[in-house]
Amino acid sequence: MIKTNKLVMIPGPTPVVRSIQDQMARETVAFGDAAFVKDFSEVIADLKAMWRCDGEVFVVAGSGTMGMEMAIANTTKRGDNILICSNGFFGDRFIDMCTRKGLNTDVLSAEWGKSVTPEMVEKKLAEKKYQAVTVTHVETSTGVEAPIAAIGEVMKKHPEIIYIVDGVAASGGADQYMDTMGIDVVLSCTQKAFGVAPGLTMVWASAKAMERRKSLGAIPESYIDFDKWLPVMHDPSKYWGTPAINLVWALKESVRIMKEEGLEERYARHRRQAAMFDAALEAIGFRVASEKGFRAPTLSVYLYPEGSGIDDAKFRTVLAGEGAQTAGCLGGFAGKGFRMGHMGNIDKHTLVSAIAAVERSCVKCGYAIELGKALGVLQKGLVNE
Ligand SMILES: *Cc1c(COP(=O)(O)O)cnc(C)c1O
Repeated sequence: MIKTNKLVMIPGPTPVVRSIQDQMARETVAFGDAAFVKDFSEVIADLKAMWRCDGEVFVVAGSGTMGMEMAIANTTKRGDNILICSNGFFGDRFIDMCTRKGLNTDVLSAEWGKSVTPEMVEKKLAEKKYQAVTVTHVETSTGVEAPIAAIGEVMKKHPEIIYIVDGVAASGGADQYMDTMGIDVVLSCTQKAFGVAPGLTMVWASAKAMERRKSLGAIPESYIDFDKWLPVMHDPSKYWGTPAINLVWALKESVRIMKEEGLEERYARHRRQAAMFDAALEAIGFRVASEKGFRAPTLSVYLYPEGSGIDDAKFRTVLAGEGAQTAGCLGGFAGKGFRMGHMGNIDKHTLVSAIAAVERSCVKCGYAIELGKALGVLQKGLVNE
């Protein structure tokens, strides 16, 4: 048997399709190249329109974590009060970041597998004055999707507060509309539902967020200062830091694919795809770790069936050998299951192959399922696609 290709089914990076790879392989040009400047401007305009952003979009070299820091740096100052709504590992990541900046941080936490609710946020906002609130749209450690629209309704009653959404494991796979959801800052990056290699962070800032930036005057941060990048985003022939030219092209191709699929359909497809994956794994005894009603459309945490005798590390090694790379669980779920992404530009072949690999791995690890059972559930869904 020849070696099986490994599908990257971790919660990011996600599979990168050929046409996006081709953009990264292009001959690099000068950042002032007229054609590149036009391409960059078009990506910015598209991202702004697609997220229904009435302010500015920043596309800067860096990972998602930099986007988190960029959001905080440009909307808060030392001594401000910030409310961090955390559903797990990535929500918690804001705590250290904000504490280092000298913010007074309050944390609303949910149990592992559950989400902070709009009611919890409302109560907290009534108790104290906050300058900003953060919510992690899809918590990558638990597979929980926070109700960002419903929390947005609460935020609309507090127009003086900046509503920041960490969209990293959601943007391009789950609905994010800044206008109707009342969001002031969304931050994301290329390697998750955008299906591009890692390397770019995208930050959408509403007109209100830009007003807040203005009110802060000079900020301590330099590379991630909105003020430094704004002239470049308005005219990419200008210089602040060298843009990641090939990644900008790759992002442009990703945006083209999204527009071709249609954003609404893309979001709906992710929800259908997730439901099929969850049902397939449940059919062979796995448990979805996130609570019903809060299950992310982009990734899932699957807990091993009780009494299956599956050894976590062994299972994921066997699964990688069978063709699907997945991630181990974090925090409260560590050792109890695996995390699988099902987001981005993935087609039916990928979905079928991933579930088939899971089935073979179960049998190879001594968990005697009926081969084809999960696959059958998936196929029944896919035949209607
Ligand atoms: C992956 C992830 C991040 C961090 O992104 P990096 O590119 O790894 O820095 C932040 N938030 C969420 C929700 C994520 O899934």
